[in-house]
Amino acid sequence: MTSARPAPTTMLVPDFPFSYDGWLRHPAGLGALPPGAAGTEVAVVGGGMAGLTAAYELMRLGLRPVVYEAEQLGGRMRSTPFPGNPDCLAEMGAMRFPVSAQALFHYIDLLALPTRPFPNPLGPSTSSTLIDLNGAQHRGRSLDDLPNVYQEVADAWEKALQERAELSTMRDAIQRRDVETLKNVWNRLVREFDDQSFYGFLATSSAFQSFRHREIFGQVGFGTGGWDTDFPNSVLEILRVVYTEADDHQVAIVGGSQQVPRGLWEHRPATLAHWPQGTSLASLHDGAPQPAVTRLLRTAQGFRVEDESGGRREFPAVVFSPHVWTLLNRIESDPALLPTDHWTAIERTHYMGASKLFVLVDRPFWLDTDPVTGQDAMSMTLTDRMPRGVYLFDDGPDRPAVMCLSYTWNDDSLKFATLDAEERLEVLLTRLALIYPGLDIRSHILGEPLAISWETEPSFMGAFKSNLPGQYRYQRRLFTQFMQEDLDERQQGFFLCGDDVSWTAGFAEGAVTTALNAVWGVLNHLGGATHPDNPGPGDLFHGIAPVELPYT
Ligand SMILES: Cc1cc2nc3c(=O)[nH]c(=O)nc-3n(C[C@H](O)[C@H](O)[C@H](O)COP(=O)(O)OP(=O)(O)OC[C@H]3O[C@@H](n4cnc5c(N)ncnc54)[C@H](O)[C@@H]3O)c2cc1C
Repeated sequence: MTSARPAPTTMLVPDFPFSYDGWLRHPAGLGALPPGAAGTEVAVVGGGMAGLTAAYELMRLGLRPVVYEAEQLGGRMRSTPFPGNPDCLAEMGAMRFPVSAQALFHYIDLLALPTRPFPNPLGPSTSSTLIDLNGAQHRGRSLDDLPNVYQEVADAWEKALQERAELSTMRDAIQRRDVETLKNVWNRLVREFDDQSFYGFLATSSAFQSFRHREIFGQVGFGTGGWDTDFPNSVLEILRVVYTEADDHQVAIVGGSQQVPRGLWEHRPATLAHWPQGTSLASLHDGAPQPAVTRLLRTAQGFRVEDESGGRREFPAVVFSPHVWTLLNRIESDPALLPTDHWTAIERTHYMGASKLFVLVDRPFWLDTDPVTGQDAMSMTLTDRMPRGVYLFDDGPDRPAVMCLSYTWNDDSLKFATLDAEERLEVLLTRLALIYPGLDIRSHILGEPLAISWETEPSFMGAFKSNLPGQYRYQRRLFTQFMQEDLDERQQGFFLCGDDVSWTAGFAEGAVTTALNAVWGVLNHLGGATHPDNPGPGDLFHGIAPVELPYT
């Protein structure tokens, strides 16, 4: 267990390369309210990572955030304890965090949460990895232990990225925070690749002319493992992940990722305007957030927010962080909240589905040596069968351990959607028995499995957004919505944030950084300003704005 991490690259996203970590760490703080504005209530819809980041920083500025949450604080950072063994957790949503996520780590460090390396496939902290593809199995500790074809695939991926997507130039520019180079290269690539799928990018690369190589790449991928369920998505989504090393050097949060948003809820900032020392979000809310929002309306003064308990409150500004589809089907939303073209972008938002199934076992039996093969009894597993990804988490040799028996996406996730947790477990054990004949996983399982399909969770309807080819323009509209100077006055004061509007959806860093955009937006909307020595994302917007693609 350690908090030490390698030297940081940052998730400086080339669409909008604003250094959020620098803004957060600057001693001048995020800004100041105009006289008389302290204590003003601002609605924050959603108590996940974005909503609680926004609420925490609005509180520090001296505003009174009023957080609404439909389910549990933490949102998709959901660490579920096993019944009867509450010290053992299943990470139902986010579970591994790249150290390049420097804005997120600002809060992880603030809360002094310990981390440890995440056991990704073929990673240094993974005992062994087994790849099961087309009925054949290969096992090793690193790429060097696998047949040559795996190295050929890794080389092909590197070659495709270098030849077509200027990998070295982009990574170097991110490390040096060279905004000019980033924008020059990326703006050209956006024009070139917005219409291209991930699969199309591979299939049209000279390095990937072999179907077999594409198939193996889909299975093994890079970083976190198989990426073939992302093949239909825009390749721009993948390039952002690769450039910012979001799939590398990942850590788990000891004690569960939910501690980050929940920690912000409880944390008492050392410096805050207006509120007495010792104030926290929890204390401002008497311990519990407001319930689910059911209706959002514009009024002459601002907004009316109605909730499922019948509560109705007026606010001059609203920060909105849930999945944007909830504005279409679960919340009665005033059309005047947003311009029409933003509603179009919301309608087109595309979500990835994802399912996971976890079991608690008596001990990390997978580290036993198989007497026949001399290898681990079981390995971190990537398979083209139903489980797709098996992850193994141990906490010492004689203690209960956690197995994620299956982690799936999109079509693979849908295969589970109609099964309950026990039925899923049966299917998985049957499939795993084909890969590990003779290994009795079931005899080690303690209690019931924990399962989730995010696409059937009522407040979510998907794991996270991922743009399809041709959706850059919609993404741009949603991300830049916090800049409201060109909006009609009647469309100002409502701020979208969270994973859905982020350029790197599926990474909590994007939830944090878009929340910080919303904080800047609220500050600006209420007549406040940033310190001249520490300009915020809106102050620098026009110099680094995401490129606009032509409409006609
Ligand atoms: C399966 C999965 C795996 C992931 N893996 C990783 C990972 O390994 N690393 C990583 O960095 N990120 C990962 N992510 C992404 C990460 O979880 C998200 O980026 C982040 O948690 C999103 O935070 P958010 O606040 O934007 O949204 P959410 O966490 O969804 O928060 C929105 C909140 O709004 C609430 N809400 C919904 N409707 C209403 C309503 N009507 N009224 C009030 N509240 C409402 C919801 O209950 C929710 O709590 C993963 C996500 C999933 C689903």
